[in-house]
Amino acid sequence: MSEVKNLELYIHIPFCVKKCNYCDFLSFAASDEDKDRYIAALSEEILKAGEIYSGCNIKTIFIGGGTPSILMPEQFRKICEALRSAFDLSGLKGKEKGFFRKKEVPPSIEFSVECNPGTLSVDKLEMMSAMGVNRLSIGLQSAADNELKELGRIHTFQEFVDTFVLARSKGFKNINVDLMQAVPLQTLQSWRKTMAEVVALKPEHISAYSLIIEEGTPFYDRMHGEFPLALPDEDEERAIYHATREFLEPVGYKRYEISNYALPGKECRHNTGYWKRENYLGLGLGASSMVDNVRWKNTSDMNEYINGERTRQEEERLSRADRMAEFMFLGLRMTEGISKEKFFETFGQDYDFTYGLTTAKLIDDGLMKLTISDSGDSFVSLTEKGIDVSNIVLAEFLPE
Ligand code: SF4
Repeated sequence: MSEVKNLELYIHIPFCVKKCNYCDFLSFAASDEDKDRYIAALSEEILKAGEIYSGCNIKTIFIGGGTPSILMPEQFRKICEALRSAFDLSGLKGKEKGFFRKKEVPPSIEFSVECNPGTLSVDKLEMMSAMGVNRLSIGLQSAADNELKELGRIHTFQEFVDTFVLARSKGFKNINVDLMQAVPLQTLQSWRKTMAEVVALKPEHISAYSLIIEEGTPFYDRMHGEFPLALPDEDEERAIYHATREFLEPVGYKRYEISNYALPGKECRHNTGYWKRENYLGLGLGASSMVDNVRWKNTSDMNEYINGERTRQEEERLSRADRMAEFMFLGLRMTEGISKEKFFETFGQDYDFTYGLTTAKLIDDGLMKLTISDSGDSFVSLTEKGIDVSNIVLAEFLPE
């Protein structure tokens, strides 16, 4: 039995209708039979994890993918039943008997599910709601159909709107929309239109990541082939990137992480946990975990996974230097930055003694700033200029 107190759970569903042109996530199309076999293996893994971690306080659950909303209601129910048997989920409010808590009690577990337009239905949403899901993350990427087509997405913008409206009608009050900047055919004008269309729907959270062309994807092949992608040029890409905050903050979406915006109090608790280095347990194909500063991942081979050969792969105990570096480069992704007092509490070492020189130089260059909170804590964080070149700034905190 683990002595870990708090734990976040990540469950990976590796199935998609078809592969998008830019995607290098662990995801693929699969038959109904394979999905059933996977759910059985996943449930078994969840129950085994419960033997070790059942005493932990589960803070968040995130079912990601892939496209978890591709699962049928019964498949989804099986996963939730395994979770319910393995862990104490009494902090979860759901409509089904055993999950129900009084309405006025806010759910103390954030339970998110990633969804894609074109894969949700009334019965799936009702099942999620019954199982206590209280946050949806819907992948849109763009409101322009020509851009969606170029990305290889399976849906149109209207199909996204239909999905969003359906989710609202089924009582989902906390919805994230994923958007993507600097995609082929995108212009500053089309990006602004995308944001305006999305904001009109009033989601609680918006993620806006920039496209990265990864090796092994159709986009990578096209980049290096005869018919290159029509990507925005460097100036337009910068303009698109800057337009995001300029557009979203005045309408109430505060940037709380380099690529994430939320209405007050609607920041994603699960992802915030990653950035704050909370313990997380990943279950499912290829899922990563970090518990008590030990990191490992599951096999990415579907046959091995289904046969129960999940074994902790690439297991690594993080050194003190690694932990400090992670604390810095993950924490600095958050706009609140990192607290010097928390650094001392975590490592028993003075922040200024450790990173004082680096921080002073970055403050001189206008890339970092120091603020004092109402409670008197000292926070160091990136400035807007620092966020613009965050990769360079964060690299300053990597171990030598
Ligand atoms: S829906 Fe998401 S996970 Fe699936 S192929 Fe597209 S980008 Fe990848």
